[in-house]
Amino acid sequence: MIILKLGGSVITRKDRDKPTLDPVNLDRIAQEIARSNVDELVIVHGAGSFGHPYASKFEIGSEITDEKEFFRKKRGFTLTQNAVQNLNHYVCNFLLKHGIPAIALPPSSFMVCENKRIKTANLEMVERYLEMGMVPVLHGDVVLDDNKNIQMAVVSGDQIITYLAENLKPERIILGSDVDGIYNRDPKAHPEAQLLPVVNSMDDLEFLEGARTVDVTGGMAGKLKELLDLAEIGTESEIINAGNAKIVECALKGEKVRGTLITKNV
Ligand code: ADP
Repeated sequence: MIILKLGGSVITRKDRDKPTLDPVNLDRIAQEIARSNVDELVIVHGAGSFGHPYASKFEIGSEITDEKEFFRKKRGFTLTQNAVQNLNHYVCNFLLKHGIPAIALPPSSFMVCENKRIKTANLEMVERYLEMGMVPVLHGDVVLDDNKNIQMAVVSGDQIITYLAENLKPERIILGSDVDGIYNRDPKAHPEAQLLPVVNSMDDLEFLEGARTVDVTGGMAGKLKELLDLAEIGTESEIINAGNAKIVECALKGEKVRGTLITKNV
C-alpha cells in the first residue's frame, strides 16, 4: 500500500485568502495517479486555502473562554468543515474523471483528537474500501477534541498521514508539495538554498523560524516534525514536487525522482 499526500500548496492557491482551487494541477495529478496503476492507494490532501482562512479566523483549537466563544467556534468549525469538504469534492471529481475509484472519507466523521493529536479513528472503513479496490480520499479537517477546554481541533493532512502510517503500515509514504523537498532554508525566500536529499533531524534545517508558511497547521516545520516521529518508529517517507509534471507518476511507479527522504537509517 502507498499513502500519497497532495499538499494544499499544489491543489489550491494557498496565497489566496478565500478558497481557490488549482484545477490545472489537480487534473494533471489525477491523470498521473491513474497512469501509475498503484494496486493499493490511500490519498490524503491538505486543506490549503479552503481550510486555513476559516480555521485561523475562528481560532479553532484555541481555548474556549465562555458561551459566546463556544457558539462562535462551533460556527467556525462547521464553516471550515464545509469548505474542506468542498475541496474534497473537487479532488474526488477529478480522480473519478480519470477513472480512479475515489471514495471520500472526511476525518471529522470518524476521528477524535485529544489535545490536538488524533486519539482514535475508525480505520476499519479505510481498510474495507481498500479491500474492495477503492481509493480512500481523506483530508486535513476539523475534528472534535476530548480536551474540554478546546473541544474542537484542526487536524492537518500531515498529522493524518502519520496516524495512518502508524496504523496501516504502508510500504511507502509520498508527500507531494510545491517544492522539490526539504532545503536547508526556505527555497522561496532564499534562491541559493540547497535541497537536502536525506533528512534525519530538525537540526538539518538552518533556519527553523523561516520554515513556516502561512499555515494554521505549521508549514514545512510542522510537516517535518510529523515525519521525523514516523522515522523514529522505522517508517520512511519521501517529499517530492507535485507541482512539476511527471514527478508524482514516476514516484508512484517506484522510479527515482528528485526529493527528500526522511529516515533515521543513515
Ligand atoms: P503543503 O501545503 O504542500 O503540504 P506547506 O505549504 O505546508 O506544504 O509547506 C511547503 C512550503 O514550505 C513550501 O512552499 C516552502 O516555501 C516552505 N518552506 C519553508 N521552509 C522550507 C524548507 N526549509 N524547505 C522546503 N520548503 C520550505
